[in-house]
Amino acid sequence: METNPVTETLRAIYSLHNRFNEIHQALTKAPRILALHRQRVDAQRQTLENASALVLEQKKLAATKQGQLDDGEAKIKKRESQLMECKSNDEYKALQQDIKASKMAMSVLSDEILEVLDKIETLEANEAKEKETLEKFQVEFEKFKADMEEKRPALEQRRAEILEKLKEEEKKLPSEFRDLYNRMARNTFARDGQYDVLSPLNNGICGQCNTAQVKNTISQVYVGEFCACQSCGRILFAPEGRDF
Ligand SMILES: [Zn+2]
Repeated sequence: METNPVTETLRAIYSLHNRFNEIHQALTKAPRILALHRQRVDAQRQTLENASALVLEQKKLAATKQGQLDDGEAKIKKRESQLMECKSNDEYKALQQDIKASKMAMSVLSDEILEVLDKIETLEANEAKEKETLEKFQVEFEKFKADMEEKRPALEQRRAEILEKLKEEEKKLPSEFRDLYNRMARNTFARDGQYDVLSPLNNGICGQCNTAQVKNTISQVYVGEFCACQSCGRILFAPEGRDF
């Protein structure tokens, strides 16, 4: 038995729909993926800024403490020079005690500075790591963007060509069939941004929702009559190699 022309047309339309959907999805998905890349770069830039702020904060702390140390040491030197000018033993001892206490304080301050310097080293390593990550994300963003811009014109052209072919095929459908088909096609495209109106009937089962069809439906499909799946409502057609 020869394949009827409606079935031939539906097979062609189904194949064009699949190709259209694939290209259309790639085209509509790309800007969303690009936006995610951009978000990731922005978030990482913020992370790096935070890491740099921590380094700066500790560097300021180290500078303050270093200033205190320099002042303290200068004062100790000054007091040491005053020792010789002491007029009494008590005065001398008191000044000596004072110098000793100051030296202790300076020693503690020195240790604190070393701790801060250690901390700065760790924070700077972290900052460098975050910077590297940012650069990596930026490269990936630029690469995706360039790739997208390079591919877009060809994809858009192919999509337009498929739409042209689709129109040609759709014209071949009997007018009543075509009206029903057109309405469904418009609806699914408006709803999902893709054409999803046809389903191959595989061994009496809808290829999209796997619902077994009644005998009457199956025989109608094979003669190319308009027939929708009882469950999902897609238009059923006989796929290649199933002409009886
Ligand atoms: Zn179905």
